[in-house]
Amino acid sequence: MTVRRIITVPDPILRKKSESVNDIDKDIKKLMNDMLETMYDAPGIGLAAIQIGIPKRIVVMDVSKEPNKKEPIYFVNPQITWKSDTKASYEEGCLSIPNQFAKIERPEKCNIKYLDYHGTEKEIKAEGLLATCIQHEIDHLNGILFIDHLSKLKKNIIIKKVSKNKKELERIVV
Ligand code: ZN
Repeated sequence: MTVRRIITVPDPILRKKSESVNDIDKDIKKLMNDMLETMYDAPGIGLAAIQIGIPKRIVVMDVSKEPNKKEPIYFVNPQITWKSDTKASYEEGCLSIPNQFAKIERPEKCNIKYLDYHGTEKEIKAEGLLATCIQHEIDHLNGILFIDHLSKLKKNIIIKKVSKNKKELERIVV
């Protein structure tokens, strides 16, 4: 497994719409393993393939609350088949938007249809953190970031902050 570089805003790659996976072959499994390793290393609780520059509809996630217990979930071609009318808010962050957080409201519950690591079709009922996280990740597959749920003003402030931090970091490295 290899830790890959995570792409951050304002890189236009993050706006690309990802394509469905037709066959979960060795290369796709290798990609999923790398994604999981990258996510744990970051550390984060979810990662979409586009965040490491691969426009494929793959998400890895681990929302386990116990720090030493790993419970990875792999979602290939995930689709929301149902959303609740009730909403829930979380303070969201994103590995592609480092150190920025904002309160985002999303449907509290949803059902997700997807293929697992072995290509088996599954459907789960998600709520709480899992529901919020999978919606955030499916947004990534459609080129949408959590800041798109904010006002244009708030969104631009966050993008400017991240871009500025990036430049400062580069200056130190050089
Ligand atoms: Zn994200």
